[in-house]
Amino acid sequence: MEILKTSMTELKQHIDNGDVSCEAVTSAFLEQTKKHNTELNAYITINENAIEQAHELDKRHKAGEKLGKLGGIPIAVKDLLCTRGIRTTAGSKMLHNFVPPYSSTVTEKMDEEDAIVLGKTNLDEFAMGSSNETSYFGPVKNPWDTTRVPGGSSGGSAAAVAARMAPAAIGTDTGGSIRQPSSFTGIVGVKPTYGRVSRFGITAFASSLDQAGPMANNVKDAALLLEAISGRDGQDATSANLPVPNWVESINTNVAGKTVGLLKECFEDGAMTDEVRKVVDNSLNILKDLGVKFKEVSVPAIDTAVPIYYLIATSEASSNLARYDGVRFGHRANFDEIPAENIAEFYARTRAEGFGEEVKRRIMMGAFSLSSGYYDAYYDKACRVRALLRKQYLEALEGCELLFGPVTTSTAFKIGERIDDPIEMYNNDIFTTGCNLAGLPGMSVPAGFSSEGLPVGVQLIGRHFEEQNLFDFGQALEDELKLSEVPSVL
Ligand code: GLN
Repeated sequence: MEILKTSMTELKQHIDNGDVSCEAVTSAFLEQTKKHNTELNAYITINENAIEQAHELDKRHKAGEKLGKLGGIPIAVKDLLCTRGIRTTAGSKMLHNFVPPYSSTVTEKMDEEDAIVLGKTNLDEFAMGSSNETSYFGPVKNPWDTTRVPGGSSGGSAAAVAARMAPAAIGTDTGGSIRQPSSFTGIVGVKPTYGRVSRFGITAFASSLDQAGPMANNVKDAALLLEAISGRDGQDATSANLPVPNWVESINTNVAGKTVGLLKECFEDGAMTDEVRKVVDNSLNILKDLGVKFKEVSVPAIDTAVPIYYLIATSEASSNLARYDGVRFGHRANFDEIPAENIAEFYARTRAEGFGEEVKRRIMMGAFSLSSGYYDAYYDKACRVRALLRKQYLEALEGCELLFGPVTTSTAFKIGERIDDPIEMYNNDIFTTGCNLAGLPGMSVPAGFSSEGLPVGVQLIGRHFEEQNLFDFGQALEDELKLSEVPSVL
C-alpha cells in the first residue's frame, strides 16, 4: 500500500486491520510535508508531538482497544482553530506567539475520535481573503502550479491535502473559504449548515457566517470527518441541537428521478470563464445521463450577495477584533523607549503593528457601517437584504434536492495578480457568499481541469441540515468522473 495515495477511509481500515501502524502513517505524511512545505508554505506549525501521539495510539490498539472514528489518522488543522499547547496564529502578527490554554470543540472532538493534529495550516490573516496572500506568514502556493494562489482563506489546508501532506484537513468558511480553495486545488470541501459545527475556540471573524468543515480527497472522507466534528455543543449557543446523521453509511448514489435547481443568475453569459463553463456543463450532462431532472430557478437578489456580505462580515469583524488590545494576550507594541501617553495610544500602536493591511481595511469598513448615523443606511439595510436573500434561496430550493452550479468564476489566478485590487478580489466570492448569508450547506466537488491543467470544482448547495444530499450527489459525480490524478508536486 502506498500510504500517500491511500484515502483516509482506507487508511483507517488498514490501521484497524493492523496492516499499518498509526506511526507509519503519520511519519509518511510528515516526510511528505518536510519535502514540500518550504516551497508550498502550507503549514505554519508542525505538531512536534504527532509521532509520539501516533505511538500511543498504536499501543492502545495493540492492547486490543478499538480506536475511534478517525483512529490514528493525522489531520491538518487551519491555524484559526485553537489547539491547547500548540501555537495558534490566525495567520496574523497579532497572534504570532499565542499558545492557547484551551482547544476548540472541533479539535476536541477529533481528539475524542483518536485523530492526530499533524500541524496548523496557513491562511489569510484572520481568514480575510480569497488567495492566501494576506497571511503574515507569507503566501501559500498552489501545488498544481506554484506561480498561482491556492485560493483562500483555507489555502494552507487545501494545498496540504492536494499535495498529500495530510490525508484530510479542517478549514473554515465565512464566505467561501473552504469551497473556493477546494475548487482551486481539486479537492472536496464542505461548508456545513450554519449551526452544524460548534464555533467554540475558533478565532471569530464574522460570527453569524463562520463554519468549520472538512477538506478531503474524496466525498466519503469529507463525510466521515464531518461526522466526527458535528453536533450540539453547550459552549456555542448557535450550535444546533440535532442528531448527527450517519452520512457515510447512508450515501446513496442513485440520483435518478431527483430534481436539481440551476440558478439562472449563475449561468448568464459571462458569469464564468469558458474554461470553467466547460467543466460545469460536463458535470451537468453527467448528472442528466444519470437521470437527474434539472429545473431553472432564480435568486434575483444574488447580485447583492457580495456587497451585503462585505458589510455584514466587516461589521462583525470590527467588533470581534476589538479584543486584540495587547493587554491580555497577543502582540504588544514595544513601549520601553517611547512610552504610551495614554491607553488609547497603547491600543493604537499595538493594533497598528499587529494587524495587516486587509484586516485594517475591514475593521475600518465595519466600524463605519456600524457607526451611528450610518448604521441604518448600511448595516441594518444589509441585514434586511440578507433576510430577503435567504427567503429567495429557500424558495429556489422548494421542490428540488439541491442547487447545482460553479464555485468560482475562474481557475486559480496568479500570485500578485489581484491583491492590489480589493474590489476585484471581493467580486470573486459571487458564487459562494450567498450560501453563508442564508446559512445553507455547500460543497465543492472536483469536476475536471482547464486546458492549462488547473482543477475546477462544481458547487452543490443544499437545504438546511440536509448535507446528505450533497454527499449523495457528490459521490455520484465522483464515481462517474474518476478524477484520480495526483498533483504534479508528487
Ligand atoms: N473571501 C471571503 C473574505 O475575504 C471569504 C473568507 C472566508 O470565508 N473566511 O471575506
